[in-house]
Amino acid sequence: MDKLTRKVIDIIVPCYNEEDVLDMFYTELTKVTDTITDYECRCIFVDDGSRDRTLEILRRLAKDHNNVKYISFSRNFGKEAGMYAGLQHSTGDYVIIMDADLQHPPTMIPDMIAGINEGYDCCAAQRTSRKGEAPIRSFFSRMFYRLNRKMTNIDLVQGAVDFRIMSRQMVDAVLALSERQRFSKGIFSWVGFKTKWLPYENVERPLGQTKWSFTGLLKYAVDGITCFSITPLRLVTGLGFFISFFAFIYIIFTLVQTFIFGIDTPGYVTTLCAILFLGGIVEISIGILGEYIAHIYMEVKGRPIYVLKDTNLPLGGAKNNE
Ligand code: UDP
Ligand code: MG
Repeated sequence: MDKLTRKVIDIIVPCYNEEDVLDMFYTELTKVTDTITDYECRCIFVDDGSRDRTLEILRRLAKDHNNVKYISFSRNFGKEAGMYAGLQHSTGDYVIIMDADLQHPPTMIPDMIAGINEGYDCCAAQRTSRKGEAPIRSFFSRMFYRLNRKMTNIDLVQGAVDFRIMSRQMVDAVLALSERQRFSKGIFSWVGFKTKWLPYENVERPLGQTKWSFTGLLKYAVDGITCFSITPLRLVTGLGFFISFFAFIYIIFTLVQTFIFGIDTPGYVTTLCAILFLGGIVEISIGILGEYIAHIYMEVKGRPIYVLKDTNLPLGGAKNNE
């Protein structure tokens, strides 16, 4: 196919302290992209404020290879911000998002492109096994998916990872959701479009280590629900009604007991139980309200999702830049 008319695929790779794997990643990636002749592949690495030599390596790669672009943040803003920046700066007809740690096998890219050629808007990887992962993490992950499906009206696919190819139309839809607290798994599902799922076995990191801590994952899980659903608020309201109803019945019951049958109501234990129980419920309710107020607070401030420090891409090219 004529080089000038080839469609472009931008491969976005968020990187945070990935000095150990970056060279290996690029070698593995090019082994695959070199075999793709119908499309022109470009890499957009996003250095998410790494403290190691990541940016240095990216600059070297960009100097040696024409198709390597990089964006560097002023500090660590998180993977979600990295993906958003990459999408904003992409201009390709299709965009691939993948991790730098080789847990997203580049060998799947041709299959993803085949999916696009079949007419899908998106082709995404779905992890079928959690081999090599701590059982407790797998357990909480399964719980999260179940809870999320019950609480939100978006359909999160079990095992769905961020590794995917998207059409320009879908990328623009994702960018139109310019919320600050980004939960990409939900956003990808929310925008819709026809998605083909490609199953794959979990791959362990060859080098470096995961950036996720248990509390980080827990916060992610809470955001996954509160960013997409107000069901928890409704549940609190429902619970309030439920408890008030039983409290009312109990009051009638006690009044009847005392005034009609003349039975003495037993003393402080019931009072204590009621106070502690209600106290707990009230605390939880305030906590849930707080989660939503925190979201409003963060959105209302309208701060940028990331701060750019350096890039070899033409500046001002980003879409939806706020
Ligand atoms: N990452 C990032 N910013 C962060 C944390 C992670 O850009 O604050 C990148 C990281 O470099 C990797 C990808 O996101 O390319 C996935 O991170 P990680 O491997 O730590 O997550 P896991 O695979 O364990 O879910
Ligand atoms: Mg990883």
